[in-house]
Amino acid sequence: MSASPPAPLPTVRTVSDLRAQVAAWRRDGLRIGFVPTMGALHEGHLSLVRLAGTRADRVVASVFVNPTQFGPNEDFDAYPRDEARDAGLLAGAGCALLFAPSVGEMYPPGASTTVTVAGVSEPLDGQARPGHFAGVATVVTKLLNQCQPDVAVFGEKDFQQLAVIRRLVRDLDIPVEIVGGPTARADDGLALSSRNAYLTEAERPVAAKLNAALREVLTKVRAGEPVEAAEQAAVAALLAAGFRQVDYVEARVPDTLERVGPGPANGPVRVLGAAHLGRTRLIDNIGD
Ligand code: AMP
Repeated sequence: MSASPPAPLPTVRTVSDLRAQVAAWRRDGLRIGFVPTMGALHEGHLSLVRLAGTRADRVVASVFVNPTQFGPNEDFDAYPRDEARDAGLLAGAGCALLFAPSVGEMYPPGASTTVTVAGVSEPLDGQARPGHFAGVATVVTKLLNQCQPDVAVFGEKDFQQLAVIRRLVRDLDIPVEIVGGPTARADDGLALSSRNAYLTEAERPVAAKLNAALREVLTKVRAGEPVEAAEQAAVAALLAAGFRQVDYVEARVPDTLERVGPGPANGPVRVLGAAHLGRTRLIDNIGD
């Protein structure tokens, strides 16, 4: 007898249908976990769904390519979308419900409120992508209010985003536990990303050098070398390897994202980097 195909993943597209399902689970005393995504799912996303499953009885995932976190010259239109594939992967990872709202459901006409987080949103990607974190903070605030989970899981891959979300949840008293999940990587160290699909065959091995460069900075900083020299050497190495632009390579204090250095660092360090390879913008970070 052949195995029966997995049941299709229950999918809701409106806030009221999402709330109705979550309320029914709550009446049964179940704990709700939530994993927001923009789809084009890979093992990194699925690892977060599995992690949420260890913290909750039912895991909800959202797939929403959020227009407000893309700049005017960024890849909103080109961003890969394949809901049927995503739903199959989510079901296989133990997700119980997919929330896949339209842009109109998320931003009805007249929507005019934006959440901005000062401090942690400002450096790094905050400078390289003006408006990006306001878009992220607004959509994540909405998603958390819509789903009202007990626990929400976000990837350390987007380390600054995780810091922004932790801050806004504290500042706005949103009753949810935020959990960070480790970065899933390819064998050569490249952080898995939906945007890796943009890389050409020739660019793919070069892309792994971003992670290698960040590791090098961390090793040097840990050995007591001056922070700025280590950062500058990494930028030069990336440009020499074929990256066309490096937005930043910086060692920062993990909790606050304040600058480390310029001298030798003492205390915890996170090294964050963003660089363009052809048409692909890659980000990564590592710490110890
Ligand atoms: P995205 O679909 O890119 O918006 O990402 C959705 C969630 O998955 C975010 O919390 C990301 O930080 C997380 N994520 C993306 N890539 C990875 C990865 N390689 N490992 C772990 N989590 C990831």
